[in-house]
Amino acid sequence: MKKNLLEFTYEQLRESLKNIVDKDYRINQIFEWLYAKKEGDISKWTNLNADIRKKIAQDFRARNLTIVKKEESIIDGTIRYTFKTADKKFFFAVLLANKDKQSVCISCQIGCPMGCNFCSSGRVEFARNLTRGEIVEQVLQIENDTAKKVSGILFMGMGEPMLNFNNVTAAIKSFISKKEFALGKRHITLSTVGNVRAIKKLAQEDIDIRLALSLHATDDRTRKILIPNNFGFKIDDILSAGEYYLKKSNSRLTIEFILIENINNAASDAHKLARLLKKYNLVNPNVQVNIIAFNPIKNTEFKTPSPESIDKFKMILNLSGIVANIRQPKGVDIGAACGQLGY
Ligand code: SF4
Repeated sequence: MKKNLLEFTYEQLRESLKNIVDKDYRINQIFEWLYAKKEGDISKWTNLNADIRKKIAQDFRARNLTIVKKEESIIDGTIRYTFKTADKKFFFAVLLANKDKQSVCISCQIGCPMGCNFCSSGRVEFARNLTRGEIVEQVLQIENDTAKKVSGILFMGMGEPMLNFNNVTAAIKSFISKKEFALGKRHITLSTVGNVRAIKKLAQEDIDIRLALSLHATDDRTRKILIPNNFGFKIDDILSAGEYYLKKSNSRLTIEFILIENINNAASDAHKLARLLKKYNLVNPNVQVNIIAFNPIKNTEFKTPSPESIDKFKMILNLSGIVANIRQPKGVDIGAACGQLGY
């Protein structure tokens, strides 16, 4: 099987292609085709001679994914892409369009082993991790499709990033590399259910991206109902790891809280969340709580709370000095909103 050129860093590519090209400027040209010109057809890399192109194409390819479906929200223009891998598996990415900026919510696994009860991705049987190349290719393909550069990346699609740590961090390094996507570190957010050991490891990586902790509850019993496979870590451990990450990375931290009627939306939950954040020094301008109203999915008894109760939850946090925002759902009509990325 041909190797995917998007799997390689610059140095790895130079090593892999040393029998075909031996000059650095040639590797630079190849990188330009891959990441700046985003041309996936090696035969079109016209500043390399035909012989080099032919030799590269014999053993390598530059694409592993195909866009098989594209659905656009009539409400807000959000686009849900369905990708098919070379081994015929399917997963999703979402383009969140703004006036002049575009962010993408990308996947890191096919299916998700975490099985969160409010999320349709958790109901898709886990097939495998996406590779570094498949993670970055989602962004390349969306940039090609829209003819616009992506300005923000959210690891909030299908999958738990901490379960695919090596490929996810390799992809992040590609996103921030000057030779590849050249995105600012602060424009990348990784969302995790909260694997404490992996959060600490991420802090050591020195990539300083924004971290989002999917908390969703203020007591461990309720959290276990929402996130059955929660890595076994307690809320206190997770918030303590968040505090550590914030200090080490000097970045920003988001606490994600999906509000579900009669499960976690009481005023007492908001007060308890405020106390927990205070306990871990997380009441500061670099920490924000994202309140997300539960988005409807199939076969669930969970309900979306009323707008009044959502506002009240936010107000209690704000009055406690916490930066809290209600995230507006995007792409609800096409199954692209938070928690809706399933088959
Ligand atoms: S919320 Fe995230 S971790 Fe939980 S099932 Fe969905 S994709 Fe997986």
